[in-house]
Amino acid sequence: MRLLLIEDELRLSEALVYILEKNKYAVDVAFDGITGQDMAESGIYDLIILDRMLPGKEGVALLKEIRLQGITTPVLLLTAKDAVEDRVEGLDSGADDYLVKPFATPELLARIRTLSRRHSTQFDGEKLHVACLTLDPLRCEIVSGDQPIKLTLKESQLLELFMRNKEQVLTKDQILSRVWGLETEVDINNVEIYIHYLRKKIDPKICGVNIETIRGIGYCLKEGTHV
Ligand code: CA
Repeated sequence: MRLLLIEDELRLSEALVYILEKNKYAVDVAFDGITGQDMAESGIYDLIILDRMLPGKEGVALLKEIRLQGITTPVLLLTAKDAVEDRVEGLDSGADDYLVKPFATPELLARIRTLSRRHSTQFDGEKLHVACLTLDPLRCEIVSGDQPIKLTLKESQLLELFMRNKEQVLTKDQILSRVWGLETEVDINNVEIYIHYLRKKIDPKICGVNIETIRGIGYCLKEGTHV
């Protein structure tokens, strides 16, 4: 999962990035509302953690605008205010959940898991399932036969993207930005290399899924026996 954190307090955002990366999330950070909105509108994120009080553009205003742009990414609003009207305003503006500062990190992680569950049908606790393939993103591990197989972090993030978007064609550009981020210096060839790595670890005959090459476009994770 790729998360966007829009938070101007440097120490808090550094601490959050550390915790989120430790929990195997890919994280990009924006420190002001304008940059945050641009990044949110790229549509590459699975979840946005949005601070309310931001320089450039205030969180609730940003949220209303991205919803008007048709961005449906789940948003967890961070707020220092705990008045009922503030919470209602946040939720009315299109936030999916909110957390009052200061918060405990286990609670933040629990809210993130809940929101991603709500937005994904194949998500069971922390694991994803397609056909006979199970991915545990937290452990970077797949199970398809009897033996668990270890993946690298990038392989795991790539497979997670495919499993969350099964039967959908993903272009190489989409894969690059969603797995490696917008500011990446990584070449598009890396996508092909990592697909190659992943295919070596996933046996279609055992797990019932196949990463198909869609010529000239990208790739698609397909379920079934047509492999
Ligand atoms: Ca702030």
